[in-house]
Amino acid sequence: MAYRDDVYISVKRAFEENSQRARKDAEQRRRSLSAKYPEIDEVERKLSMTALSVFKAATMGTGELQARIDAVKAENQMLLQRRKELLKLYGFPENYFEPVYKCKICNDIGFKDGIMCQCMQKELSARMLEVSGIGSLAKKMRLDNFDLSYYSDDPDGYKYIAAAYKAVKKFCEDFNGNDDDSLLFIGNTGTGKTHLSVAAAVEIVNKGHYVVYNTSQNIFDDFVYDKTHMSSNEMSRSEKYFKCELLVIDDLGTENITQFSIASLYNLINTRRCDGKSTIINTNLTNKDLRSKYDDRIFSRLMGEFSLYLFKGTDIRMKKLYNAID
Ligand SMILES: [Zn+2]
Repeated sequence: MAYRDDVYISVKRAFEENSQRARKDAEQRRRSLSAKYPEIDEVERKLSMTALSVFKAATMGTGELQARIDAVKAENQMLLQRRKELLKLYGFPENYFEPVYKCKICNDIGFKDGIMCQCMQKELSARMLEVSGIGSLAKKMRLDNFDLSYYSDDPDGYKYIAAAYKAVKKFCEDFNGNDDDSLLFIGNTGTGKTHLSVAAAVEIVNKGHYVVYNTSQNIFDDFVYDKTHMSSNEMSRSEKYFKCELLVIDDLGTENITQFSIASLYNLINTRRCDGKSTIINTNLTNKDLRSKYDDRIFSRLMGEFSLYLFKGTDIRMKKLYNAID
């Protein structure tokens, strides 16, 4: 697992603040009722002396040590019971002075016995999804709503799509952030490439990994931006494409292809490969187009080091549209 540092730090800080606020609010309720009701104030004052009473019982007095400590405990229990009764009497819940935490497991700290609580894992996944670039696509394009039946009247197409679906499922199950498996989806528009790419990204984010998803045009725009702002103190826009554990490049070939974009793409693919990081690329270009538009080094990297999946068949987007109209 490797949450992006800034996301992890801000989530952890928010948890600490929530936990602190819950305790502060409880203390505020206690003070306010103590100021209003003298009986409650008296009970609270006695309860606050408990630690001192235990100390006194342990170090002073005569008789059995255990008996003295038991007496303090009994007194404490009696005071807590009295507090409950008084709160009830004045119309407050008996746990009114207890902090109200959203998560009863970790008391909003995010950790329990040194292990990250599920509530924090959930929050981190949600925040990682926000910064991954997947945005609203995450709700529509998931593995569990990828409907293979759309392809059933085209046995040839179905064979290819089913193989890709199976491969993506396995890719997601096996993903651990440092196996350098990479996938290349080649096929026409509307055959499900983007759906499976987004679905893979969502699954991997939910496993707690750092994922970045973007169209090739946006990615290379960021490279151009960095090149033209090299001397400024601004944060690099392309750094995330190198750092993330999974990069999804959507629609390779739709970018404005220049010598610079080709060099950037090679550098990106090559660096990620050397760092043992996975990449998913989908493209409408054919093998032939890929070879002619990019240089041989990129073509041989794509063909040699990516698992290639072909998406053949009818345009599912059109089919879905027709079904909606029928
Ligand atoms: Zn929790």
